[in-house]
Amino acid sequence: MTSQRARDRLAGRLRELGIRDPRVLEVIRATPRHLFVDEALAHRAYENTALPIGFGQTISQPYIVARMTEALLAEAAPQMVLEVGTGSGYQAAVLAQLVGRVISLERIRPLQRQAREVLSLMRLQNISLRHVDGNQGWPENAPYDAILLTAAPRVIPEALLLQLDMGGQLLAPVGEESGAQTLVRITRTPEAYVREDLGPVSFVPLLPGEVQ
Ligand code: SAH
Repeated sequence: MTSQRARDRLAGRLRELGIRDPRVLEVIRATPRHLFVDEALAHRAYENTALPIGFGQTISQPYIVARMTEALLAEAAPQMVLEVGTGSGYQAAVLAQLVGRVISLERIRPLQRQAREVLSLMRLQNISLRHVDGNQGWPENAPYDAILLTAAPRVIPEALLLQLDMGGQLLAPVGEESGAQTLVRITRTPEAYVREDLGPVSFVPLLPGEVQ
């Protein structure tokens, strides 16, 4: 079940769940999610569920990937996007087909290596991967039109807020590791960082430091 039909069915399911942006649904249809999970799990790659990718981490649920991507595209499509938490690389691959450039940060080296292999297989050339603690962001390419966290902090790191361009938006799950988390959108305006809550979610925690 790694066929186009399985992908079409997944896109249909996401549509039923409220994903409306045709660009997002098209990219879900075009992206081989089975390449981003272990072969033993490939037959489940087009279910709308998170799946383990090793090191206690998960590839995000397709619905969540689609929802976060749709939220980022709601205004003009961002040119420069920072993702914190590369994991399998699937979210980065989806984004890279819809925005100018993606910089993605991962603290666990072997996960980053695996993601790099799949992304080069897909010939996506507008993604740069960095092995670093994403709590610090990646100031070298700042400011970003959009910043996406795919791991949940208790509090959004200030370094990330400072790397957001004026008018840019940051999307992050915020909350306790096993408790309630909320998907939060922060928009930077000249006067303030404006916060909106987009509903409950469940992500792995944003952890400190790097793992070789
Ligand atoms: N976007 C991923 C989701 C992976 S799960 C995907 O599509 O598969 C979240 C990832 O965030 C994990 O790989 C985890 O190691 C990573 N992570 C957690 N804390 C981090 C930090 N401080 N900096 C960078 N990555 C982090």
